[in-house]
Amino acid sequence: MKLEEKLYLLSYKHDKQSHISIRDNDICGTACAKTWGRPCTTFCPANVYAWDGEKITASFENCVECTSCLTGCPYHNIDWRLPRGGYGVQYRNG
Ligand code: SF4
Ligand code: SF4
Repeated sequence: MKLEEKLYLLSYKHDKQSHISIRDNDICGTACAKTWGRPCTTFCPANVYAWDGEKITASFENCVECTSCLTGCPYHNIDWRLPRGGYGVQYRNG
């Protein structure tokens, strides 16, 4: 089964409040872009991160809570926390 098919099996209880924020978008646009190629846009299995031309956006609703954010950003520039109680991904068949 492909990753995309497994992700499709998951369900989510979406919070209105994001559990992800970028500490300093200047780093994303300069040092990280030049040196690392913005790895958050590739290491996240749920494609949460994207570069919109000015900043990194985070589609936090799609996060599968794999915790890669805690180590994957070379500048520790992602403030990732667990979603509030009761919110987030619900693992059932995935
Ligand atoms: S990996 Fe970290 S520093 Fe690089 S673009 Fe993503 S959030 Fe910004
Ligand atoms: S915890 Fe995992 S799924 Fe969630 S945003 Fe970070 S890398 Fe993506």
